[in-house]
Amino acid sequence: MPLISTGDILRQAIAEETRLGLAAKADVEAGRLVADDTVLGLIETRVGRPDAAKGFLLDGFPRTVAQADGLETIMRTGGGHRLDHAVNLVVSEAIVVNRLRDRWLCRQCGAIYNVSSKPPKATGTCDVCGGELTQRADDEPATVRARLEVYERETAPLVSYYETRGILRNVDASGPAEQVYAAIRCAVGHAS
Ligand code: AMP
Repeated sequence: MPLISTGDILRQAIAEETRLGLAAKADVEAGRLVADDTVLGLIETRVGRPDAAKGFLLDGFPRTVAQADGLETIMRTGGGHRLDHAVNLVVSEAIVVNRLRDRWLCRQCGAIYNVSSKPPKATGTCDVCGGELTQRADDEPATVRARLEVYERETAPLVSYYETRGILRNVDASGPAEQVYAAIRCAVGHAS
């Protein structure tokens, strides 16, 4: 099942300096949301690709009620998809700020590290491909706080949106990654 991350799509467009990337750059770097129509266009194209025909995992989308409504329309009109689960990772603001402060990723292959919980074997170098590790500009604590404010205002209403639809899965995400992963599998009915 492909992982579809609107953040990854936007960061790639910014790195490649495409028209989308140039238009989205200032918003992404400041931790503001990119326009709903822009993101919905990206999702519509992406979920229409053959590898998504049997299902997909959305990451970082939808982020507003307008995006969630747009997604319902896309699912209804194209491909006959149905949303099975909306996973809500429940975690304190303090943990989020610390995790993002400590997050590093590989410029080359995108592998993600955390200097306190999952450090690379050699500082600054990717274990997987040997690429150089870097930090996201928007993971800087002041920008993370701005992103959390946007979350409270724009995205938090989606919790009741999906609760009403009966597909909300709340998962305690405060523990280590393996524990959160197991809890997510359990919440979506794939416990092993
Ligand atoms: P993420 O990688 O999900 O943390 O997203 C990084 C940034 O990309 C966000 O702070 C926004 O600026 C932008 N972005 C990602 N997904 C969306 C979305 N669904 N709607 C609007 N902006 C988004």
